[in-house]
Amino acid sequence: MTIENTAASEGLGRKILARTAWPVLLILCICTTAYGFAIDRPVIVFNLTYLALAVALYLLERNMPFEKTWLENDGQTFANIAHTLTSKGLVQGLVTFSGVIGITAYITPMQGEGYGIWPRDWPLAIQVIMTLVAAEFGLYWAHRISHEWKPLWKFHAIHHSVTRLWIVNTGRFHFIDSLLSIVLGISIPLALGAPLEAITWLSAITAYIGMLTHCNVDMRFGLLSMVFNTPGLHRWHHSKKIVEGNRNYGENLMVWDMIFGTWINPDRRPPARIGITEEMPTSFPAQLVWPFKEIKELDQEGWTTLINEENTKPKV
Ligand SMILES: [Zn+2]
Ligand SMILES: [Zn+2]
Repeated sequence: MTIENTAASEGLGRKILARTAWPVLLILCICTTAYGFAIDRPVIVFNLTYLALAVALYLLERNMPFEKTWLENDGQTFANIAHTLTSKGLVQGLVTFSGVIGITAYITPMQGEGYGIWPRDWPLAIQVIMTLVAAEFGLYWAHRISHEWKPLWKFHAIHHSVTRLWIVNTGRFHFIDSLLSIVLGISIPLALGAPLEAITWLSAITAYIGMLTHCNVDMRFGLLSMVFNTPGLHRWHHSKKIVEGNRNYGENLMVWDMIFGTWINPDRRPPARIGITEEMPTSFPAQLVWPFKEIKELDQEGWTTLINEENTKPKV
């Protein structure tokens, strides 16, 4: 094979990888998770799958980055991991102490036979899709109100304060921000009577899509972006411009963005310079207290005005 042929086949291989990596990785994750359920080891198999996905995406980020400047160190790796652990720790704590703090008392009746309108005899795959759509309604509004209402934006701003996207800032959320989206996300399917197995699937798929959404890999998505929250859409969501950033709120699916008119996917390159307009402290402890300090200083307008592109246009 000549050098030119090798280069051409490398180019072709990369093109194929760019178009298939996102769906293939998600399908592989779903298949291994199903295997975990089948052998009655869902938690350990989920953790191994999540780790394998992180390694695969890390290697792809190094070899075919979407934005080369995002490979540079931004000094936020420790803070990213610390926010991820505190948010995840909070969820673990809620699960562990759900009996003590009374959550079980609410959830147990919702898991009883005949509760709610949920069709529990339908195939599990259909129930998982229904759970994703139902939860997405709560996730969409938790996310949207966190962008449009200043007091909640101060917590969500932690996630948006990064200046590059890569797999390690997937879980960078202030724990109050995480709590809001988790509560709003799972309460709708639970209230409708969705079984806990479907909720577990929801958590696993949300974790996989979250990492796939933040990765800095040069991939193409085509029609996938009409249905799923892809990196292509989420890069717009991290734009500093409100007309671009206050869009694409979907966590996993874009169905509610489509319905409420917040879906965008312009036919040009999204901005490489992302972030927020406020000054964010660099250390993790300072970031944890930052939203509380900012809220204390909000004036009447800060508490009552919704931020969207309409009221950010210059007034005439
Ligand atoms: Zn956001
Ligand atoms: Zn994000």
